[in-house]
Amino acid sequence: MILDGIEAKPTPANWRAAEHLLREHTGGKAVVWSGRAATALYHAYQVAARLRPDVAQPEIIMPAMMCTTAAITALMAGMVPRFADVDAHTGLVTLEHIRARLTENTIAVVAIHLLGHTVEIAPIAHLCQAHNLLLIEDLAQALGATYPDGTRAGSVGDVAVYSFNRTKIIETGNGALVANTDEAAATLDQMVRDHPLPPVPAMTTLKQLALSYRNLHHSLVGVLRLRAQTSETVSSAFLPIRPAYDPLYLRPANPDAPMSAALDDLAATLMRRCDLAEIYAQQLADGPWHLLTAYRSSGVCWRFTLLSDDPDQLVDFSEAVRRDGFHVSNLYWPVDQFFRPDEACPNADWFARRVVNLWVDASVDADYVLGCCESLRAHAHRLKPMDAMR
Ligand SMILES: *Cc1c(COP(=O)(O)O)cnc(C)c1O
Repeated sequence: MILDGIEAKPTPANWRAAEHLLREHTGGKAVVWSGRAATALYHAYQVAARLRPDVAQPEIIMPAMMCTTAAITALMAGMVPRFADVDAHTGLVTLEHIRARLTENTIAVVAIHLLGHTVEIAPIAHLCQAHNLLLIEDLAQALGATYPDGTRAGSVGDVAVYSFNRTKIIETGNGALVANTDEAAATLDQMVRDHPLPPVPAMTTLKQLALSYRNLHHSLVGVLRLRAQTSETVSSAFLPIRPAYDPLYLRPANPDAPMSAALDDLAATLMRRCDLAEIYAQQLADGPWHLLTAYRSSGVCWRFTLLSDDPDQLVDFSEAVRRDGFHVSNLYWPVDQFFRPDEACPNADWFARRVVNLWVDASVDADYVLGCCESLRAHAHRLKPMDAMR
């Protein structure tokens, strides 16, 4: 079904192929389309709460290494986000770190397949079953990814969340929540019928609000990166302002987006991305960095990522490459530092201070990648060598 704000309507006929593909990937029983993955996460949390009426103060465990969306939508749903640290070398959440945040109030776990790389899901699924927790797989950066055993990411969780918005694998707009179990499907169906989405402000208002949030986030990351303020101070400035941005997150689907046509090309889109990633991997094989190549097993490369063990020089290095005309981002910052500074996630902090993301999307081609690699190598002297232990 599709959420148009006031009611839930049947999926448009021209989207059926897209819906079929998501169900094929997940074995899903029901698909609810909305305007954003943020909205899908919000609904997933509410499904989790309905399935656990025994818990009065529900907590959701999510990785510290991600954008702030999953935490903001948890707060909007009236739940407490808890942040699990990640593996320092992959940025992916692990069983051990999830277990460390488990309490009797935990009702759900969000497993994010960051950068298109897949989380080691089986032990996490086992933990969730043992403790009656809803497992939410977030495929916003990993549409089409497979696990090492060949099964699809999105098929293990109770629900799976997808994004088709700007900067994702496919950029038609919209988001989707797939319910994989009968119980989750029935609960979701009831919930979206009972709770229409709130009215959405005018597009010009949303655009200004989104820009304002982006500026706020960049500014606060800058302060944290420089250690110019503690995360306690940054968090106590951020949290009271945060609700001003709530209108950004709950959005109805845009029924005019060509979902099926875009997903029809998925295999070719993913292969092109991996081919471009291979050029980076070969061109950058010798350098003062560590290359993340887990896209080779997942089949999905969201951005090509390298880690430099020189956090103090990283911003200048990226800026030099940008001046040569290439996209570089160092944006992701440990989310715990905005929401729960008392819950330190040192591996996420280590990773965030070292990450360099490079583009493999439709806006770039092989010549661009070769040029970008040339620029990276030309400026590599600014970076000290990677610690061999890492
Ligand atoms: C982008 C993103 C989201 C949010 O997607 P929207 O469709 O923009 O709401 C959620 N989770 C992850 C991991 C993302 O990268």
